[in-house]
Formats: sequence, structure tokens, C-alpha cells
Amino acid sequence: MSESETGSIVYRIKPKAPKAHVFEVNCLIPSPDPDGQVISFATWIPGSYMVRDFAKHVVRLWAHRGEVPVAVEKQDKSTWRCAPGVGELTISCEVYAWDLSVRGAHLDMTHGYFNGTSVFPRVHGKEDQPCIVEIQPPDGEVYEDWRVATAMTRAGAAPFGFGRYRAADYDELMDHPVEMGCFSLGSFEAEGVIHDVAIYGRLRADIDRLLHDLKTVCEQHIRFFGDTPPMNRYVFLVMALGEGYGGLEHRASTSLMCKRDDLPRVGEKELSEGYRSFLGLASHEYFHTWNVKRIKPRAFIPYDLTQENYTRLLWAFEGITSYYDDLALIRSGLITAESYLELLGQMITRVWRAQGRYKQSVAESSFDAWTKFYKQDENSPNAIVSYYTKGALVALALDLTLRRDTGDQLSLDDVMRALWQRYGKIGEGVPEEGVESLVMELSGLNLKGFFDTCVHGTADPPLAELLAYVGVEFMLRPAESNKDKGGKAAGKAVELLAARPTLGVQLAPGSGEAKLAAVFDGSAAQAAGLSAGDVVIAVEGLKVTAADLEAKIAAYPVGATLSVHAFRRDELMEVKVTVQAPPNDTCVLKLRSDVDEATLVRRAAWLGTMAAGGF
Ligand code: ZN
Repeated sequence: MSESETGSIVYRIKPKAPKAHVFEVNCLIPSPDPDGQVISFATWIPGSYMVRDFAKHVVRLWAHRGEVPVAVEKQDKSTWRCAPGVGELTISCEVYAWDLSVRGAHLDMTHGYFNGTSVFPRVHGKEDQPCIVEIQPPDGEVYEDWRVATAMTRAGAAPFGFGRYRAADYDELMDHPVEMGCFSLGSFEAEGVIHDVAIYGRLRADIDRLLHDLKTVCEQHIRFFGDTPPMNRYVFLVMALGEGYGGLEHRASTSLMCKRDDLPRVGEKELSEGYRSFLGLASHEYFHTWNVKRIKPRAFIPYDLTQENYTRLLWAFEGITSYYDDLALIRSGLITAESYLELLGQMITRVWRAQGRYKQSVAESSFDAWTKFYKQDENSPNAIVSYYTKGALVALALDLTLRRDTGDQLSLDDVMRALWQRYGKIGEGVPEEGVESLVMELSGLNLKGFFDTCVHGTADPPLAELLAYVGVEFMLRPAESNKDKGGKAAGKAVELLAARPTLGVQLAPGSGEAKLAAVFDGSAAQAAGLSAGDVVIAVEGLKVTAADLEAKIAAYPVGATLSVHAFRRDELMEVKVTVQAPPNDTCVLKLRSDVDEATLVRRAAWLGTMAAGGF
């Protein structure tokens, strides 16, 4: 321990019982509050806007001065107060870790993973003090090969080793997840910054290809912001599992969860849909290194981890990031223009399929993320809009509007760079109206109407007309089946699809029976009185299952009235359903070839395909 570490709060964490999923954590406080030190656990983790009350996984907590026990009293669901006293105080606790997600903590014989929010108590009044983190290995020979991956700064530990790390303060301590175990490891350099990739899970992936492609994405984002990268090292912590998908952004790392089959196999050359979506996820979280980890809402400076932090700006932080995640894949040459338009068409389809977009704006969706977006139920498609997907479409519309109305003098790219310079780079929070006013200031355009209708109102962004400006045709058609995600031309003529009626429901996956997961507003099923949770068992007196309900309905003409039997709980009911024409809610985008040279140039500038010379 060096001189400067005197006064640091020292956290020690050890996988005490991997088979029982228990970490032991000790927190040494050199000069605690003599009137009774207060400590607490976070109730939420930044990036995932839901109160999760991590203290619920604290199995035991006690305090002591050396060998002498100190009384501790719990004050609320997350907070404890120690008895008054002078001199170094240690808080000890056992934390149960069995949440295999990017948000929590997980421990078994194969690995350990934790976020600071799950395991480290906050020492009240000392949030600004530096922290030492001593990461200890589990006891036992079987764990001898375990290593550690984290973006936390080493303070004595060997590279990827157990031992001492440090964080400048509590805020940083919460922002460096840690993986330990026998992970696969690879590294690359992007614009002078070392990037490590640690992958937990059994896999047979082509690591070299993965490293090459991640490097391409990272360089694209660093060059996009056009400044010295804000981190001097970066770590991708990947959990590759049989099933799973998710990511969480941090200042110098990200935790990603994916299906191991989504990672490319050795010898495989093509880009699978699964791998494309993995690259999109990695791209998304990496863009957050700037947009939300540094360019952040004023409401998040500092994060208050004791309660909900409200902002109407998540559409800008998640939506704009969702816009650039896939755009970076085409701009860096990893996917083709057709592949990009397929992804965009799928995103538009997801937004266009839910009537909730007419009930909630993306600003409201941001504000209510805590209770609505993160706590979705059967009514969500009818009641809310996603600030991710619609937010990305607002970003697209804003980008194309700026390009069109400034004569291609300004784009959303310029706005992002200005947000970085004006806010992110200097640690200044973005005020609630900050994005809108900066856009209008830089462009000289009065875009109040755009923001009032598309961000604070519930209008669909005018994508058909804006995409025409860059030579892309916007088409809507009915879905071919409930597996049709959009983005691609249909295999059947649109007139044939329009003649196949639907109930307007979403089926619950898995059980085999036709259980309704959601009934859409304005649908035939809703008009007939069917509800989410009902199990449809017969149409016109003949048995149906989840596999054939859709096809059996589609065999009747639009407007036919059918007898439908269903169970609600254990009660059989019969309703008359007048089946409706399917909605035109499936989007396909196409590169137009019949456009002038100026349009081609604009399209190449937007998609970043100028240098490559192709479209
Ligand atoms: Zn995100």
C-alpha cells in the first residue's frame, strides 16, 4: 500500500462458497463517522432503469473493530447504521450471487461475475474517497487457473490476476464489473487503446475473426467522435450461453450476454443473423462509452442509487445509440447496405406493430422507464412505446431532416460531436431541453414542431418522405406469418397477404396450446371479448393449437364471423369473432436505382459508403 492509499476505503471480495453462490465482502473504513457510520446498498444499476433492491441478496451483515463486534441496526430496506465509535471499522457481509445477467452477480464452480452495485456497500459521507479493491480467489486447487478480467485499474495485481485494484471514488467503483474464472481471452488495439475481450462459457468460436470485427467497430466509433478516446483501456466481458441476450454499458467496459451459437465458428465465412446481432449489441454498448456514460443527462450527475432518477431524455441516449449501433456496421464495411436496410426495416416493423405508440411519447416513455418499459405486461403493446426503437427512428428522422433542410451542411453526426465537446468531454450534464436546443442552435432551423410531434407527441416520424431524400423506398405490407419480422420482401403477392384475415393477437411461446399473450387494440379478438391469458381451443368447432391457429383463421375470408371456444381460467366460453384484414404493419426498405446522381451522393454520405465507392 502506498502513501496515497492511506485513508482509502478497502473492499475485499472473495468467492467464499462457489457451490452455494456466496461472496464474502469486507469493507474497511479507516475513519468512520464517530456518531455511527451509515452504509447502504444500491437499489438500481445505471443503464438498467428499474429498482432492483440489491440489498435483498445480502444474507448476513455484521460490523467489527478488529475482533470486537460493533452493533448494527437496519434502518430501511437497503441501509444499516453502526453503533457510534472511533477507529477503523470493518463491515462484513455475505452476498448471494445467482443472477446470471449483466445487471447482477453470479457465482458457481465455473466462474464468478459481479457488479459493484450488487456486492459493495456505499459508505455514507465518504463517497468521494478513493477505494482499494482486493479481489481474492476462492479456496481450493480446482480454482488455481482462475483469472480476473475488469477495466478497474490495477494497484498491485498482475495483469488478469487476483490482488489489488483501485477506483477513484464510489461512482467509479460501481462502474467496473468483474469476471473471474477460466475465460477465453483476446486483445486488440484500436486507435492506440488496448481492448481486451474475455469470454466466459463453453465455446468454439473464431476468436480471431471476432477480434478483427470488434476492432473495426471500435475504430469506427472512436473516429466518429473525432477526439482522443476517453478511456485508456477497454474490456469486453462476454458471457456466451445456450440462450441469452443483453448488454450493459460502463465507462471503460461492457458486459455482454449472447448465445454461443451467435459467435462465428472457425472456418465459417458468412455473416449469420445471430453474429450480425451480436456485433450490433457490441457496437451499441461501445457507443455508450460516449453517449450516456459521459454525455449524460444532468439528472444522472451524480447518479442517486437510492431511488429512481427521472429524465425525459432516454430516447436520446438509448434511441440515438440504437440508431448508430447498426449504422456503424455498414459505415465500417462489416455489413452491406441491403443488410442494413433489412435491420432498419425490422426496427420500423417493431414500432409500427404496437398501438401504444399513439398513447405514449418517447419523452414520457423515458420518464416512466422505471415502472412501464422495465415492467412490461400484457397491455404494454397497447399502452407504451419503446424509447429504444422509436427513439432510434426519431434519430433517423432527425438525421435525415438535418441533412435535407441544411442542404447537407449538417447531420446528426455533427450534433453528437458537439454534444461530446460541450457536455461529455468536460463532465457537464445535458439539461432536459439540451439536445433540442443544441440541434436548433447548430442548424439554425426551427425544429420545435418536429420535437413537439415526434418526441413529446405521438406522431410517427415522416420516414417515407425522409428516406426518399436518400433514395430509399419505404413500403408497408401485411405480415406473412407471426414469424415475419419485416425488413424483407414477402414471398407472396401483397394482395394475397391482404386477403388472409387475422385475430390481432400475440401467442405465448412454449406451451403448445394457443394461449394469448397479448390482444391488440382495435383487433378482431378484442372486439369479440378475448383477452390475454385466454387459451383458444377451437375455431368453428374444430381443435386448434399454437402451431395452427393462425393458418386456420387465415383460411376464412376477411369479414367472416367465426365461433371461437376458449378457456378463461378454468371456465369455457364461446365468442363470435369477425376476422379482419391484416394490418399493413410490416416494413420493407429498398435502395432505389432510378435516382439522380445527387441522391446517390447523399445516400453514400449517410451510409458512409462514399470511400468504398459502392452502394
Ligand atoms: Zn443502450
